[in-house]
This record gives sequence, C-alpha cells and structure tokens, in this order.
Amino acid sequence: MVAARGLCLYACPPIEQGAGAFCVLIIKKTTLMARLVLKFGGTSVADLDRIRNVARHVKREVDAGNEVAVVVSAMAGQTNKLVEFCREASPLHDAREYDAVVASGEQVTSGLLAVVLQDMGVNARSWQGWQVPIKTDENHGAARIKEIDADFLSERLSQGQVAVLAGFQGISPDNRISTLGRGGSDTSAVAIAAAVKADRCDIYTDVDGVYTTDPRIVPKAKRLDRVSFEEMLEMASLGAKVLQVRSVEMAMVHGVRTFVRSSFDDPDAPQVGNGGLPPGTLICDEDELVEQQVVTGIAFAKDEAQISIRDVADKPGVAESVFGPLADANINVDMIVQNISPDGKTTDITFTVPEADYIRAISVLEDNRGEIGFQNLEGATDVVKVSVIGIGMRSHAGIAAQCFRGLAEKGINIRAITTSEIKISVLIDSAYTELAVRTLHSLYGLDG
Ligand code: ADP
Ligand code: ASP
Ligand code: MG
Repeated sequence: MVAARGLCLYACPPIEQGAGAFCVLIIKKTTLMARLVLKFGGTSVADLDRIRNVARHVKREVDAGNEVAVVVSAMAGQTNKLVEFCREASPLHDAREYDAVVASGEQVTSGLLAVVLQDMGVNARSWQGWQVPIKTDENHGAARIKEIDADFLSERLSQGQVAVLAGFQGISPDNRISTLGRGGSDTSAVAIAAAVKADRCDIYTDVDGVYTTDPRIVPKAKRLDRVSFEEMLEMASLGAKVLQVRSVEMAMVHGVRTFVRSSFDDPDAPQVGNGGLPPGTLICDEDELVEQQVVTGIAFAKDEAQISIRDVADKPGVAESVFGPLADANINVDMIVQNISPDGKTTDITFTVPEADYIRAISVLEDNRGEIGFQNLEGATDVVKVSVIGIGMRSHAGIAAQCFRGLAEKGINIRAITTSEIKISVLIDSAYTELAVRTLHSLYGLDG
C-alpha cells in the first residue's frame, strides 16, 4: 500500500487589513507513507545494546511516517540452547512440548524490543503468534502458516502503533504453540507482509545483502543488487541460508518485495542509495532485473548424505522398491544416479537424502532388503552438494561442461549430478567444499 499524503495546502481565509488583504499559505512537506515489515535476525538482537540499535532502525521508519510491523528472532544461540535442553530432557521428546520450549526465545526479544521502543517514545506493543493469531497446520517443529488475521494487525498499524511480533511461531489447530522450522522468522515476516499488504519486507541480518556466495567462505563474493524470486528460491534451497526457503516461496507466490540488508548499518545514515534503496539486495520479479548474468551465484549444502545400493536386478519395479519405502517413511530423496552393469543384468543406484535422515534411511532399506534384493549398501555423510545457479542458463549452453572441467582441473571427483533449467548441482567430498566453491566462483566471473 502506498498512501500518498500528498501536497497539503492549508489556505487561511484572507484577513481584511484596511486596503491590503493577504493570504498565508502553509505548504506541508510531501510525504509518501509506506507500510513496512522489518525483520531482525538472531545476531541483530543478540543483546540489549543490539536491541537498542534495532529500535533506532524502527524509530527512523516511524519518524519517516511509515506504518511499521517488526518481526524478531530469538537472541543468537538461544534457540540452539533450547533445542539442546529438549534433547537432554528426552531424546524422543513430544513435538508439541518441543515447540512450547523453543518458541520462548522470541517471546523474550519481542517483549524487550517493545520495552526499548516505548522508552524511546515510540508507541509499540509486542504480540506472540497465538495472539494475532498466526494459524498453522499441526506439523509441530516444521509447521506451515495457513492463515493470519490481518484485520487485527492492520487496525493497529493504521492507528500508528508499532506491532512487535515474535517470529518463528504460530498456533496449531490443537490450540498449541507451533514453530515453523529453523530460520522460520524469515517466513513469519514475509507471511505478515503478505497478510497486511505491506509495500516491502525488510530482512535485517548480519550481512548487507545476498552475495554471489556465502561471504564467509569466499571473501571475494559480491553483493547482488537484485535477485529474482526464482533464483533466490534455488539459492536458499541449495544451501544459502540467508533466507529460509519457505519465506522465498511465500514472497514469490504473494509478490512480496523482499529487501535483505544489514542491521549493523548506522540507523541514522541516509537511506537513499542504489535505486532509491539503502545498500542491500532486492528479491523481486524477474521483469524488475536490470541486468542479467548467466550465473548469479554458487551455493553449497553440507547437510546431505549419499547412499549407494550395489548390484540390484535391472528390471521394472526396482526403483519403486527402493524409493517407495523411503517415501512412506517421509524421507526426501534428492539426487539420483543409476549405472547399468556391462551385462545389463544388474544396476547400482546412488542417491542423496538429508543427513538428518541418513540413519533412518539405511534402516528402512535394510528392512526392505528382501524386496529390493541388493548385494551391498554403502553410504557417506562427508559429502557436500555444490550448485551453480542462474536464470541466464536457460538461454546459454555449455555452463555444465565448464563446471565439470573446472572441477576436474582441480582434481575434484564428482559423485552425482542433477540439473534443472536454472541450476547444476554436483555432489563431491566435503573436504573440497571451499576449493570447489572458490573455483566455480572465479570460473563464472563472479569474483569482486
Ligand atoms: P539471521 O540470524 O539474521 O536470520 P542467518 O545466519 O540466518 O541470519 O543468515 C545470514 C547468514 O547467511 C550470513 O551471515 C551468511 O554467512 C549466510 N549466507 C549464506 N549464503 C549467503 C549468501 N549467498 N549471501 C549472503 N549471506 C549468505
Ligand atoms: N530462532 C529461530 C532459529 O534460530 C528462528 C529464526 O532465527 O529465524 O531457528
Ligand atoms: Mg536466518
């Protein structure tokens, strides 16, 4: 929503003063009010000093005449501690109670930020997920947002109140606190921005935007001014954890303009930079991209595991006998490679599963050994999936060949490959992660 308060002319009635009459015109400054959702991640609210800094960012937007909703994460490290408490309490804990525990970190930061804002003279009030309510499904620990009561928030925003919302949480159909999966505050923020029809969702974090790859691994990584929803979705799902995958899906579906920026920038610095926005990255529609690179970025994911099934009969139904039971056990399979033996009678199948599901996957396959009829089952968790992403690949040939050549020249062996229209992923030994990412980053001309 952009409500232009416009140019206001207050005309005073002419005051008769003898022969002369004059009119005083007061010209009010033109302001363009926007509705914004600002999200601050764990490192941005890690202690009271940082929360005070966050409050200055919020106050700046309020003073500029904007309507502001804020979404906060727990203080850095807090959610990890709470997760650990649950594990220590009982390895097989109840998912509903896990949610009751891990959602508490955000309750603390939302309340503290509201207190600091009030102290600065800003009209602010904190809200937990159940109070809005942010309704989710019953999938405790990784719940999906189903519905948000926008009237409740919109009313407060239009009254000029800053709504400080606890991210990462909602309420499930069984009336219990639910959480949205790790990194879920990004999704809370984008969902709230979609619900209240915000003009923009600003994701404040510890980097000043989305880079061509993780700047912690490649210091030569460059900040991207704009990234399309589709590319960001690939980057996030292939390991760039700067945004939770679901937040990008949600932004894409609802067309939420999402802007990634740093909370460590001086809150009082001028806010106009590239394209009218401060330093950061705008995630937007492909049509809004100014220039298009063939390759936009390199992502990597270390949380994959490889499983190889050796010497299974090469006959119809064998793939179903392997992947059917894994699907029934709710285990996602990603890359799949199948090799046929020279005599055409047997086959080897290699695939990847999330590392967290590795042990379970092996036991599901062992349980179905008779059905599948394999000779050997092998696996590895010391693997990494490195991906090259770019919408320009749709119209450029040879990008995959360049990737394979580049890795071969460094002596890096590829265990599995998958491709889509806009990405190439290779599975390699995790010991080569940095070398592979840096090699590909230079190869596609991304070094800054
Ligand atoms: P927050 O706590 O604010 O949610 P996160 O730790 O979830 O922050 O995300 C920010 C981190 O994402 C950065 O510190 C950076 O190391 C990492 N990251 C991974 N890939 C990228 C990328 N392509 N661009 C920017 N940051 C990235
Ligand atoms: N505090 C939660 C986590 O650490 C949610 C988030 O930070 O987005 O996963
Ligand atoms: Mg995050």
